[in-house]
Amino acid sequence: MSISRSSDETGASPVVSATDVRRTYHLGEPVHALDGVSLSLPRGSFTAVMGPSGSGKSTLMNLLGALDTPDGGAVEIDGQSLTDLSESEQARLRGTKIGFVFQTFNLMPRLTAAENVTLPMVFHDTVDEDRRERARTLLERVGLGDRLDHDPSELSGGQRQRVAIARALANEPALLLADEPTGNLDTETGDEIMDLFHELNDAGRTILMVTHERQIAEHADRIVHLVDGKIDEIESVGGDGR
Ligand code: ADP
Repeated sequence: MSISRSSDETGASPVVSATDVRRTYHLGEPVHALDGVSLSLPRGSFTAVMGPSGSGKSTLMNLLGALDTPDGGAVEIDGQSLTDLSESEQARLRGTKIGFVFQTFNLMPRLTAAENVTLPMVFHDTVDEDRRERARTLLERVGLGDRLDHDPSELSGGQRQRVAIARALANEPALLLADEPTGNLDTETGDEIMDLFHELNDAGRTILMVTHERQIAEHADRIVHLVDGKIDEIESVGGDGR
């Protein structure tokens, strides 16, 4: 195990970088949810974030995913500084550059798997047939080519998460952000989802994943440990959780 505070030694431009980001919530006493965090995600890297409840994991994820803006410091996504963008430009950046995967899948219950996957394609100037074809390709990629017209209620938890991953890939995002992606799955199904993450990462996809499970975090190349809104250490693990 090696420990390093330097997060981008590859020299290539990172997909996302955060420099000294701060986020304070003012509900009564100020809470410094993030208190000067610098982190960059090199292209093709697979990073896990761990830390006790309240350590700032969700806040960091929201900032790196352009769902929130910092009070101090800077976030750049694919070389674009978030502070230079209007809200609608940020929404577009988020929609095209970032794919989100959640613990609770967040699928639309009345839409089929294929329809769920086409939802983020609004940013593309394509006709319905092309979108459906693209959804088919993505669902085949996650092993669900035979479930295109199933509703989420007709799918298992692991299959629902696969649909959510296909949906996250709809716009070929630069970054896949996953918040406790295996949190609602049994161990075996969680491992299958991690196998899929490895496949995507091996194909060059950059991944950031929040998890509280050490065994899941060890699938990443490195684990960022957050404590009280600061990076306590960055631990190299070599992605050998397979
Ligand atoms: P984690 O994801 O590690 O559990 P969070 O990023 O959710 O941590 O929260 C970090 C700190 O910020 C906690 O003390 C939490 O109570 C506080 N916090 C998070 N979101 C808000 C909010 N919207 N309003 C006020 N305080 C918040």
